[in-house]
Amino acid sequence: MRIHENNNVNTPLHESDRMSTRSVWAGEGEYLVQGATQTPVVHSVSYGYDDLNYWHEVAQGKAFGHIYSRNTNPTVKVFEEKVRLLEKGEAATSFSTGMAAISNTLFTLLAPGKRVVSIKDTYGGTNKIFTEFLPQFNVDVTLCDTTDYEAIEKEVAKGCQVLYLETPTNPTVKIMDIARLAQAGHEVGATVVVDNTFATPINQNPLTLGADLVIHSATKFLGGHADALGGVIVGGEALVERVYHYREINGATLDPHAAYLLLRGMKTLQLRIERQNESAMKIARFLKDHPSVTDVYYPGLETHIHHDVATKQMNGYGGMLSFALKGGLEATKQYLPLLRLAHLAANLGAVETVAGPARTTSHVECTREEMQAVGIPEGLIRYSVGIEDAEDLIADLKQALDQLPLQLKEKTNETSVAES
Ligand SMILES: *Cc1c(COP(=O)(O)O)cnc(C)c1O
Repeated sequence: MRIHENNNVNTPLHESDRMSTRSVWAGEGEYLVQGATQTPVVHSVSYGYDDLNYWHEVAQGKAFGHIYSRNTNPTVKVFEEKVRLLEKGEAATSFSTGMAAISNTLFTLLAPGKRVVSIKDTYGGTNKIFTEFLPQFNVDVTLCDTTDYEAIEKEVAKGCQVLYLETPTNPTVKIMDIARLAQAGHEVGATVVVDNTFATPINQNPLTLGADLVIHSATKFLGGHADALGGVIVGGEALVERVYHYREINGATLDPHAAYLLLRGMKTLQLRIERQNESAMKIARFLKDHPSVTDVYYPGLETHIHHDVATKQMNGYGGMLSFALKGGLEATKQYLPLLRLAHLAANLGAVETVAGPARTTSHVECTREEMQAVGIPEGLIRYSVGIEDAEDLIADLKQALDQLPLQLKEKTNETSVAES
């Protein structure tokens, strides 16, 4: 079934509407029933037709309608439409998770003998697709140093079908120059894919910077409430259609109830991201000046290696930062449980602040050596700034830092007693 003909969702949006207006209104409209102002959750697996000719036309994608919810579903469609209008693309399709979006995309675009160029520090799960699964199908995978744009351009120039980027990266928030690298990709006819999960469409629109396809783990900032898994891609119609076809057959479909939760979360997307951008900047500055903190990674800091590129291509620097403490991994283990206002969990992009060690969160799939190879300190803390008051978060980070030396000392003694 073709999805574009089905793309009949009626939206009250104007081309000129800005992001906060889009977050609220985009995609809403077509499926409202009996005056309801909110999108219904359509749990129906299939859709009935009295007119067999019309049914056949719908099945062939020639008329508007739904056939079977593995393919398309009204609630899911509204979610796709909202993301499409925020990312300013031609077409969108969705998936059960972000990893489903990534794997379905890569397995659609690649085949034995084809080549993909990417970077060493993509999301841990993506890295496993590159290092473990694609090689099983004789796909040639080249992973470059994320910050070495020239090296990436050189590899791309040798020829590839896919250039896969992620920016900012997880968890050291490195920045890739999308416009520059997309140009390199297009010179060899590659499809340029960008994982935009960390930036969100509020902070960055890869399609307008030259990318062909943008991917989100909707589980994170888009949904924003850590209560629904989902993935989505946006791009040119023909390209999205190909990936949609792979997904409708392979079945990694977004559940309509999850779609509803994601839709509801997205109405506050612009508000949340604006707050998270502002708070993360304040927190990064606070951490940078603290004597117990050795490194702070945040693209908004002037000291960040690609602060200029971030400033050029992003509307905001995002809600993700990471930092390392004096005392390394041991200090991290002591420090994190002292935080009052943070879930210690493997998630990010939620209304609540979430923190965790990179080795247990983004890079749980990776060995210590693999982490060292991409320059992630063993004790690195990933900190996803929530929508709490920034002053409260800073006070919380500070009180925990203030306790740290004492705690560390006590713990060290305990350990030595236990060991002796
Ligand atoms: C979480 C995440 C993914 C995977 O998304 P899931 O919804 O957990 O499958 C992919 N890319 C990035 C950058 C992520 O943070």
